Amino acid sequence: MDILIASKNDGKIKEIKDFFKSFGSVSLLQRIRLITYKEIKDFPLIEEGADDFLANAMLKARVVSEITCKITLADDSGLSVDLLGGIPGVISSRYAGEAATDKQNRDKLIAELSGFENPDMRTARFVCQMVLWDPKKGLLNVSEGICEGRIGFEEKGSGGFGYDPIFIPEGLNLTMAELSPEDKNRISHRGRALAKLLNYLDSVNKNT
Ligand code: IMP
Repeated sequence: MDILIASKNDGKIKEIKDFFKSFGSVSLLQRIRLITYKEIKDFPLIEEGADDFLANAMLKARVVSEITCKITLADDSGLSVDLLGGIPGVISSRYAGEAATDKQNRDKLIAELSGFENPDMRTARFVCQMVLWDPKKGLLNVSEGICEGRIGFEEKGSGGFGYDPIFIPEGLNLTMAELSPEDKNRISHRGRALAKLLNYLDSVNKNT
């Protein structure tokens, strides 16, 4: 069975592929092949207009699945900062502007939080909503993952992508970008949503 990852974010794609490789059962991995935009001619670009992660993930999964006729996995994710009332949230990838780089987004967030010197006030969480959609059967599965933490004062580490160098997961003194890819996948919002997705796929696999 092919599953198309509905994303052009190579950091996200790598994490999803690595997760399946590290945590998927042998029998599941024998039956599933993850494919990406690189294998699809004219991969559709979907505007994420909704103001919540789940609605955006649903839209991406459904539209990409209908256009490509592939079982499609879509993830909508982002960072919610308490001091900013949940911002950047669904606009995480374009927080500093439509064409903003990850570095520009991080710099803007650090600047917005300057003046808040107490680390305990800088709480935030990564959220991920993951949707699996079948072009014939419609919605197959929804899973959510959340990773609590706080925003650091400066960038540290070179792993991951996006806000990882300034996000310190709860209970750690390291940023997400200082973790190995496998350790990030164990605790991250995306890893937690993927673990639930693997449970779903395992249960379907056992019954077919
Ligand atoms: P999406 O492609 O609309 O889901 O946008 C996700 C955006 O949220 C990314 O471009 C990052 O800015 C941020 N983001 C989501 N997941 C992560 C992560 O695991 N690490 C760091 N930033 C993330």
